[in-house]
Order: sequence, then structure tokens, then C-alpha cells
Amino acid sequence: MKKYFKFGDLIIFVVMIIIVLSVFFFVFKKYNVKSEDTNIKIMYKNETIDVISTKKIFQNDKEYRYVIEGIDDKIYVYKNDILLKTINNQNKDDFKNIINMENNKVYMEDATCKNKDCMKTIIDDKSHLPIICTNGISVIISDANNDIDIIAQ
Ligand SMILES: [Zn+2]
Repeated sequence: MKKYFKFGDLIIFVVMIIIVLSVFFFVFKKYNVKSEDTNIKIMYKNETIDVISTKKIFQNDKEYRYVIEGIDDKIYVYKNDILLKTINNQNKDDFKNIINMENNKVYMEDATCKNKDCMKTIIDDKSHLPIICTNGISVIISDANNDIDIIAQ
């Protein structure tokens, strides 16, 4: 009889430990997630082309390759060789940018701009400087909380 009550105490103790750990984990996660709560945003001028969670690139080793090609009045956006979308080419100029996201890095693999400055900037988990190309294409790190509407589309 005495042993039975001890076993019951043990169960209560274990349950309490689980509750305490769950609360701790929840609070920890809630306050810890904020620093990594960012997105990688590909833009053409003020227009958002695509939004990717930084976690996918810097933590989950996802790989994306964007080919963005301006031809006459259209810009064709290919994501991993599949046409993602077509947007208006405001300047009606011909250009081509290739953005690579792989091995925890984001960089401009190729660009038809004159100075090629955009190909010198690399975004990784530590450096969040934007990649800006003179032809209007840019890659920026943005606050995920402000991008909720864009992802929902
Ligand atoms: Zn450039």
C-alpha cells in the first residue's frame, strides 16, 4: 500500500516536470525565435518578386536559383527552372540576373549590369547587407512580421 502511493507521487512529479519544461520551452522559443524571424526578399524596384524565409537557406539547407530576365516590356522570373511569375519591365530594357541561394549563402551569380558590384556582396547568417543591382533587382533581408501579407498571397 505504501509503495502504491510512492508510485503515484512519482507520476505527479514527472507530470509537473513535463509541464515546467513545456512552459520553459514555449517561453524560450517565443523569445528566441525573434532574432531569426527574417525573410530574404527579391525585389524589382519597389515590387516584391519573391519572399523566402531565411531559415530555409541558413538552417534547412534549401537551395534556390532565380533567373530573372527582362525582355522588352516583360520580366520573366524563373525559380529552379520553373517560371514563377511575369512582371512589367518598367524600363523596357533587356537584362538578366541570376541569384543563387545555396550552402547558407545568397549571392548574385551573374548580372548583365555594367559595374557588377552586385556580384561582390554575399548575404549569409552574419552579413545582412543588401545586394543591389543597378538594373533594379535587389535582394534584401526584411522583418518577417512585416511580410505576412506577401507570403499569404
Ligand atoms: Zn548588378
